[in-house]
Amino acid sequence: MTLSSKECDVAIVGGGLVGAAVGYGLARLRQRVVLLDEGDADIRASRANFALVWVQGKGFGYTPYAHWTARSSNSWIEFAALLRDETGLDVAFQRPGGFHLALSEEELARRAAYIDQLHSQSPEFPYRVEILDRSQVAAMLPDIGPDVVGGSYCALDGHCNSLKLYRALLKAAAKHGGKYLASHRVEKIAYENHEFRISTSAGEIHAEKVVLAAGNATMHLAPMVGLEAPMQPERGQIMVTERVTPFLNYPVVTIRQTDEGTVMIGDSKEEGTTPDGLNLSISAVMASRAIRMFPLLGRLNVVRMWAGVRVMTADGFPIYDQSETCPGAFVACCHSGVTLAANHALTLAPMIAAGRLDAEVVGAFSARRFHVSKAA
Ligand SMILES: Cc1cc2nc3c(=O)[nH]c(=O)nc-3n(C[C@H](O)[C@H](O)[C@H](O)COP(=O)(O)OP(=O)(O)OC[C@H]3O[C@@H](n4cnc5c(N)ncnc54)[C@H](O)[C@@H]3O)c2cc1C
Repeated sequence: MTLSSKECDVAIVGGGLVGAAVGYGLARLRQRVVLLDEGDADIRASRANFALVWVQGKGFGYTPYAHWTARSSNSWIEFAALLRDETGLDVAFQRPGGFHLALSEEELARRAAYIDQLHSQSPEFPYRVEILDRSQVAAMLPDIGPDVVGGSYCALDGHCNSLKLYRALLKAAAKHGGKYLASHRVEKIAYENHEFRISTSAGEIHAEKVVLAAGNATMHLAPMVGLEAPMQPERGQIMVTERVTPFLNYPVVTIRQTDEGTVMIGDSKEEGTTPDGLNLSISAVMASRAIRMFPLLGRLNVVRMWAGVRVMTADGFPIYDQSETCPGAFVACCHSGVTLAANHALTLAPMIAAGRLDAEVVGAFSARRFHVSKAA
């Protein structure tokens, strides 16, 4: 398809969860949005994730990220309701709080020290995590196994159905006139006469603004508009059991029961840039720890397993940036695109619509931070 800038205010490169959330946010502000995506079989973290809306531990070593994540968790309540009103789709968001479980006294002590360090990063640290002993955990998670000695709990943690989220975002964007163009791989972006000329595998798109939200591929696209996005992709594996009567009222960072009754067990962290193949020794460790946490899982059949590639910046924190040399070009690239979807739609998109990111956001999340740390 070919579009002129008279037909398109903002072209978003990448139609995963980040592009779709920003696209929906822009479309509801009456921006004419087009989402340029690759084909169905291309790699997407958005179809491979664990669906946590997770706060505890976020921002370790970088308090602005803790604030950003807590803000998104708080906005998720309004966001899920908005998506339901717009699309009729319930994305199954719940925020009962979430757990990180310890299987030995040593693990619990390590977790407590980590949380102490997290809280002491700043006097205004935005959220609290409690360390609970076995009996306190058992009162909330009665099916824990004998090896669980305790854990940490944060009231801001939750989860959703991230495939329904993805579908709802695209549907809501379309309702406001947003166009999703699959099989439009962006090959080149040029900036001329105050507009972007975007060459894709299926035609040329002209737009006043461009948002690079192409996951790990943003690394290759950002230099075309005077930006950068150093990435370090990371592989993760997930397994899913058959459906079972609800027993898990709170998500655990590595185990959660979905709205459909299946139990997801994840999620490993490995070096890797391709989702191909499964490392069964990693699956075995994940399964064995999960069964020690909840012995009833040992009776369930695993029905699916997959690996995915996380969109991961070089320091793990998001990159939100704007180009000085090509005004109107932005980068939005991060891990935790489920957790941060509310921010992307409700906070970041209005800034892009206005043509400038807030100083606070650029100050915290511009890729210029990588130069500062290199120079230091
Ligand atoms: C195993 C695993 C577990 C996870 N668990 C969680 C979790 O529990 N909670 C959470 O918040 N997050 C989680 N995540 C992370 C979350 O899934 C990602 O942050 C999110 O999906 C990133 O979305 P994205 O749109 O940036 O990237 P992607 O989903 O990778 O989308 C990028 C899109 O850009 C397209 N693209 C690339 N190059 C081009 C180009 N040149 N032209 C056009 N299009 C292009 C791709 O085809 C793709 O569709 C997990 C991820 C993994 C892999």
